[in-house]
Amino acid sequence: MKTIYVDNAATTAMSDTAIKAMTPYLKDVYGNPSSLHTVGQVAKEALEDARVRFARLINADPKEIYFTSGGSEADNQAIRSAAANGLKKGKKHIVSTAFEHHAVLHTLKKLEKEGFEVTYLDVGGKGLVTAEQVEKAIRPDTALVSVMYANNEIGTIQPIRQIGDACKRLGVVFHTDAVQAVGHIPVDVKADNIDMLAVSAHKFHGPKGVGALYCRRGIPLNSFIEGGAQERNRRAGTENIAGIVSMTAALEEACAHMSDNASKLTKLRDRLIDGLLKIPHSRLNGDRQMRLPANVNMCFEGIEGEGLLLYLDAEGICASSGSACTSGSLDPSHVLLAIGLPHEIAHGSLRISLSENNTDEDIDAILQAVPKVVAKLRNMSPVWEALENGAKAHLI
Ligand SMILES: *Cc1c(COP(=O)(O)O)cnc(C)c1O
Repeated sequence: MKTIYVDNAATTAMSDTAIKAMTPYLKDVYGNPSSLHTVGQVAKEALEDARVRFARLINADPKEIYFTSGGSEADNQAIRSAAANGLKKGKKHIVSTAFEHHAVLHTLKKLEKEGFEVTYLDVGGKGLVTAEQVEKAIRPDTALVSVMYANNEIGTIQPIRQIGDACKRLGVVFHTDAVQAVGHIPVDVKADNIDMLAVSAHKFHGPKGVGALYCRRGIPLNSFIEGGAQERNRRAGTENIAGIVSMTAALEEACAHMSDNASKLTKLRDRLIDGLLKIPHSRLNGDRQMRLPANVNMCFEGIEGEGLLLYLDAEGICASSGSACTSGSLDPSHVLLAIGLPHEIAHGSLRISLSENNTDEDIDAILQAVPKVVAKLRNMSPVWEALENGAKAHLI
């Protein structure tokens, strides 16, 4: 049976380009860039070449790029650093949203325990914040605004340029978790007025365990990992040269094909959404227009997302449910709750995140399998029975 992988918001398969770019740095160019001899200096050159090329792809200066172990580390460092530097000026307030990735949310929760006050903006039923909301929430003691570029569960794209403008005007540091955006939609840190931005390679067909933090010149950046003087004293640890070179090659490829990929994906996505909406008592989560080209997120009333996933997996379809909590508890997704869905609806969610490797045949197979599995689960569900015999009212 063919595997249909549609969980690309969780991670992607590495591209041939990314694997090819990485190989010499696993084998021949093994030097430590901090070594003064030739073997080290060859590695150093590769590192700095990657930095120049990487920076160009988001319109940054190479000196504004700090390579990290991934998106989570970049988010943690950006937020921690902005908070610590705000605190020095007596600023203890942060503005963010209710549906950030846990790399941001859990860092903010910790800062709250340490005495910071965080305003979590309402993302409304469509999963979008506005620049006006951000502007209204900013106070004289606001140290940081952190709003994600695009949401990893429901795919909604935030008005980052307008938020960046507002932050610039009001003199507040602006961080964005752009892990789902970079490589997928155009990101320009200068035009968007972004001060700090997190990237992760494995979301655009690069390797896992490598990412980057962009930090605008003039914005102080504290080190998060102590040790050597790598990354201009901001990130200790011998650099992951193979990963960094590979990430850069993957991003170059993603950016070169971005508009072609986006139009192909948008077609697949829209066919999938229209087909899945034909299932009775289903809904699309997140705004339909301001949406990543590869994201579909649906809820089906009367079923559990986990059951849906397991049955789809048995049919060779690897998708995701926003409702499963990694801790094993049955808490529904904080993102679906943030857009106002009641618990019982949020539990029945399905996220399908496509990549350019997916085909029309994949969409056909998904459109065959999902209605069948939803019907099967509903037949076994006492909740569905109650909905159908009128003992409970339908919510969608
Ligand atoms: C995947 C993801 C991260 C975490 O990136 P890692 O490289 O896996 O640490 C952070 N934010 C968003 C929005 C993501 O999708």
